[in-house]
Amino acid sequence: MTHCTKEILTAYYKQQLSNGDELGVENHLQHCETCMDCYLNLIEATEIQQTVSKQFTDQLLVKIEKQVIKPNHSTYKRKQLDKTVRHFLLAAGLTLLLTLAGLFQEVATITDESFLQEQTSITEQLLEKSTGLLNLFKGGNN
Ligand SMILES: [Zn+2]
Repeated sequence: MTHCTKEILTAYYKQQLSNGDELGVENHLQHCETCMDCYLNLIEATEIQQTVSKQFTDQLLVKIEKQVIKPNHSTYKRKQLDKTVRHFLLAAGLTLLLTLAGLFQEVATITDESFLQEQTSITEQLLEKSTGLLNLFKGGNN
């Protein structure tokens, strides 16, 4: 039984073998631990090579850049959110203040009006009384 060469195993891994050869290698690998080890090492090496390919390095750099930029971005976003929340709270507070002020004004107006009404009625009552008194005087004089 001849062992598979690295070239054949590589070709097998890259699926470049003819169907017959592929089956032969497959059968051999199932029964030969040495070739299986070799094949596994080859897969590992190829995958590591692929992993450390320029493309991957570029992708990794992009990923790192994104991850480096991301926190800044999220911090910026959080700051924006804080700003928004603060603005909202300010607006809400202002609205509440205005509403309260409006309510106070309304209450004050009501109080003023009722006070004025009361005052008017008191004045009217006094006027009526004084008029009555005047009439009484007048009547008394007459
Ligand atoms: Zn073998």
